[in-house]
Amino acid sequence: MSELVRLKAAGKRYESAGPPALDGVDLTISAGEAVAVMGPSGSGKSTLLNLVAGLDRPTHGQVEVAGTELNRLSEKALARFRRTHIGIVFQFFHLLDDLTARDNVLLPAQLAGTSRRAAFDRADELLDALGLAARADAYPARMSGGERQRVAVARALINRPPLLLADEPTGAVDAKTGAQVMELLRDLNRSGQTVLLVTHDAALARGCATRLVQVRDGKLTEQVTANAATHEQVKP
Ligand code: ADP
Ligand code: MG
Repeated sequence: MSELVRLKAAGKRYESAGPPALDGVDLTISAGEAVAVMGPSGSGKSTLLNLVAGLDRPTHGQVEVAGTELNRLSEKALARFRRTHIGIVFQFFHLLDDLTARDNVLLPAQLAGTSRRAAFDRADELLDALGLAARADAYPARMSGGERQRVAVARALINRPPLLLADEPTGAVDAKTGAQVMELLRDLNRSGQTVLLVTHDAALARGCATRLVQVRDGKLTEQVTANAATHEQVKP
């Protein structure tokens, strides 16, 4: 399997005094894996995800995605790289309230310069695949939490990024909807999408990940293979 993400002794110190939020993390993710990063609140999960997303830069070590060391890229190049290589789903959806579901999904394709026609077709294909065809013209305020998160997933996937990231994607929805979001991520992974997910919910993580990783006090403490019966075992 080809390597999609590699962190080498990666760390992040937000303030010069005090301990680093993330320290000496070595982690490799192969194409096709679904890796869940677990750990208590404040342990450094979002910091780790943001480094992989190129939303933040490491203060030590290296972060590579698809063979590119992110820290070598200028802000502009990094933004361009993110647009085509990384899709992100957040806890609170981060949809634009004055755009319809379809227009939210379309936006990253427009920013990437995709032709209007191709972007529209891809948006409708995704909305359809995620059971949102009838909601394409709805505004986020009129949608349920689960619908909003599915729109956010469609938006994350519109540019066909090799890597899908999710930061507590079930954190703002009820338990039943959370289970559906996890099923969606699991199905996407089964159809080939590489996923890196952070969550503090172990049960949900086990349901959709092929590999579990623990973060505690900014350090990766253990890597265990998910025991979801339906998944092939992936070597850590
Ligand atoms: P988690 O996502 O696991 O809850 P975070 O990665 O958000 O943890 O935070 C890890 C640590 O870094 C925490 O102690 C948090 O307070 C600190 N932290 C996170 N973001 C910032 C920031 N922008 N500035 C300063 N400290 C931060
Ligand atoms: Mg977090």
